[in-house]
Parts: sequence; C-alpha cells; structure tokens
Amino acid sequence: MSIWQEIKNTLNSFPLKSSYQINRMRPPGSCDEEMFMKLCVRCARCVEACPYRVLRRSSATKNGEIGTPYIYAEIAGCQLCMKCTSVCPTGAIDSSIVEMQQTSIGIARINEDTCMNHIYAKIESGEIEPDGTAALCNSCLNSCPLREEAIYLKDGIIPTITEKCTGCGLCVERCPIKPVKAIAVIPKGMPDAETAGYFHYLKRLGK
Ligand code: SF4
Ligand code: SF4
Ligand code: SF4
Repeated sequence: MSIWQEIKNTLNSFPLKSSYQINRMRPPGSCDEEMFMKLCVRCARCVEACPYRVLRRSSATKNGEIGTPYIYAEIAGCQLCMKCTSVCPTGAIDSSIVEMQQTSIGIARINEDTCMNHIYAKIESGEIEPDGTAALCNSCLNSCPLREEAIYLKDGIIPTITEKCTGCGLCVERCPIKPVKAIAVIPKGMPDAETAGYFHYLKRLGK
C-alpha cells in the first residue's frame, strides 16, 4: 500500500466521520429496521442492560435515528449474552429471542484484498508475488462464538462465512488489519449502499 493510500485510510478512519455513523448494527433480536425506527422510543434501557458496554446511542441525526442503540463492531462486537433482549418496553427488540443462534444482526463479509489468509493463499498459488510479509491469521475463526458453524477455514486457510453467522461482529473487533478491518458486518435489513460500513464504503469508492 502506498504512503498516500495509508494516509488516506488513516484520515478516513476518523471515527466521527459520517461514514461510520451510518454503519448501524442493531442489538440482537431487533425487528426490521423500518419497524425498529418506529418502535424504538430511545429509552436506552437496552444500552443500560448491556454488561459489555457494546451498545451505544446514535449521535447521527439523519432520518431521526439519534438516540437509537447500535453496535460499532470495529471497536466492540456483541457478546451475544442476550441481556438486552428482555428489557425493551416496545417490542423494538424481540424478547422471545433468547438463544444466540436465533439472532440475526447481520452477516459478516471478508475483504479478500486485505485478509492475510487470502493474501497468503494468493502467494501460494502464484497469483501474486511474495513481499516477505505473508502470514496466516485465525483471529476471526478463533473469536467466533459459533466457530466451524458460522465461519470455517476452507482448505485450512480461507476464512469462509456461512448462513449461520449471527452478525455479532466479534470477528470484526478482533481482526488485526489496520486501519480498515479486513472483515465487516453488513447490518440486517439495511441497503448496502447506505449502511454497509466503512470497509464497504471504501469498496464503493473503488479503494
Ligand atoms: S446481547 Fe449482550 S453484549 Fe450484545 S448488545 Fe445485548 S446486552 Fe450487549
Ligand atoms: S430498550 Fe427498546 S425502545 Fe428502549 S432504546 Fe432500546 S430498542 Fe429503543
Ligand atoms: S462470523 Fe463473525 S459476525 Fe458471524 S457469528 Fe462469527 S464472529 Fe459473529
């Protein structure tokens, strides 16, 4: 990566940029986004109930979402403890969702251009030239509460996401690639172009 590209990535990773604020992953058990925005009364009970402090209140004013809870997986993924699902007074979060396997916050996607294992495999196959930095990394696999179900290593190397992914974002939190993680969660029920987060924001810009 060129120095200029690194500078641009660093500047773009500034957490107050609006591209971050639109990456809304709702708490596990949340209803579809449109209904969520109608039902959530911004009481913050779910935020207060979260023992891991991963729920934040949105400061974005766009579409009136200010005060609604969201998870910012690049900093802290959801531990799927399910403590927040029983406290919502309006049904914005479904209290019948009690098992982590029932949740569908979103689905993880891997950036094949920056994932260390993808790069390693490309070097092994001769697709790209080695640069002396190739290494294997199993952080996403090891951090997944549903490892081998939601994510597995294809051919022992390539991290591969399955439909059982809950979108908890723990793999995003633990991914060592900086400044832009090599894995991101596409939040459920939100159009990619608006809400897919920083990694996909860069992809859309062709970077
Ligand atoms: S499931 Fe647990 S860790 Fe995840 S947002 Fe709810 S309370 Fe927080
Ligand atoms: S508990 Fe329910 S209504 Fe209150 S902020 Fe959380 S999602 Fe919104
Ligand atoms: S692959 Fe990532 S987002 Fe999906 S369940 Fe595993 S840790 Fe959570």
